[in-house]
Amino acid sequence: MGVPPKAGRPGKPAGKSVRRSLDNARQGKAATLKPPNKQRGADRKALAGVTPQWTPEEVEECFRRFQAATAVPKGELLHQNPYTLLVAVVLSAQATDAGVNKATPALFAAAPTPEKMVALGEDKVRDLIKTIGLFRTKAKNVIALSQKLITEHGGDVPRSRDALEALPGVGRKTANVVLNMAFGEPTIAVDTHIFRVGNRTGLAPGKTPFDVEQKLLEVVPDAYKLHAHHWLILHGRYVCLARRPLCERCLIADLCKWPGKTVAA
Ligand code: SF4
Repeated sequence: MGVPPKAGRPGKPAGKSVRRSLDNARQGKAATLKPPNKQRGADRKALAGVTPQWTPEEVEECFRRFQAATAVPKGELLHQNPYTLLVAVVLSAQATDAGVNKATPALFAAAPTPEKMVALGEDKVRDLIKTIGLFRTKAKNVIALSQKLITEHGGDVPRSRDALEALPGVGRKTANVVLNMAFGEPTIAVDTHIFRVGNRTGLAPGKTPFDVEQKLLEVVPDAYKLHAHHWLILHGRYVCLARRPLCERCLIADLCKWPGKTVAA
């Protein structure tokens, strides 16, 4: 979970966010941050699963609002086809989408298919993705999974969780993203943002990403499952931030059960 900003220690300058809160207080404005220890405690409580459960009506209302705000949310990883989507998601492990998007246009221009990727070779792939974390291992995996797609799937990306998870570098989260975005399956891939939002809000508490995924599959109404992954990821990435959630701009603030939220219920 996110680490809240540190308060300034005596003799040391306070952090930017703490200075901003103090400035607000001096000017009589409402503080925009809870005390850091309170926020940390709230995140600990949420992770311990003590946040109140949402009613089915609240869950429905949450997704109704997400849909009203963005009818068809989009993922942010650049890709051209199911194969380049798969490669982009593999490259995004422990990296940001923005970082991956800086490297992939050149990679996909050179190799938009498994056959062309294998022909490009591991050294060139490694060179093209060297700005992405873990690039050596990822280059190996991209070549190995491309080879496997050619020999076992006729060069196509399989529409099967087991077949996807059998590919080098592909785990449950990657398989879920590909099944959802390439094949329109109602899967929900749980990344760091969705894990935080699920626990923090009380919508889908769980100790592991798998637990949160199972809870989301249980509580999200079928009509919203296809886009739930992107609504939640965008909410976590741009609003319910780890260090400083923007509760004052949150669409679901009144539904959220997080004791650390910075607006009244
Ligand atoms: S009110 Fe919104 S932004 Fe704040 S913690 Fe809850 S979900 Fe996150």
